[in-house]
Amino acid sequence: MAGEPQADCLFCKIVAGDVPATIVRETETTVAFRDINPQAPTHVLVIPKAHHPDAAALAVAEPQALADVLAETGRVAAEEKIDGTGYRVVFNTGSGAGQTVFHAHAHVLGGRGLNWPPG
Ligand code: AMP
Ligand code: ZN
Repeated sequence: MAGEPQADCLFCKIVAGDVPATIVRETETTVAFRDINPQAPTHVLVIPKAHHPDAAALAVAEPQALADVLAETGRVAAEEKIDGTGYRVVFNTGSGAGQTVFHAHAHVLGGRGLNWPPG
């Protein structure tokens, strides 16, 4: 069923505590943890606890959970002190765009200059 934990999903395992992660924030509906392969001085992933394959699917199935994820990106940015200089929130969607984990997640990137347009 949509939203249920998937046995083969890495981020569901992080939500369950079965795979370790450096968790920086947690709410009833979200978890935020440091990316294992950071692409910027601050690189945190914010995920819904519910399993949905990407951000758009999450928006359709559980719009409040997507809003919770976005609200958390702002709180992470404030705690990491990158809100003043600016930060980027990225939802890679589809393998052609670099998505490798098919559990919706927001990348929060900051602490360095961020080129526009992104590569
Ligand atoms: P994406 O490529 O947009 O699907 O993002 C997946 C992200 O998850 C990548 O930036 C990976 O570095 C990150 N990642 C993969 N495994 C782990 C892990 N065990 N803990 C934290 N981040 C991870
Ligand atoms: Zn999952």
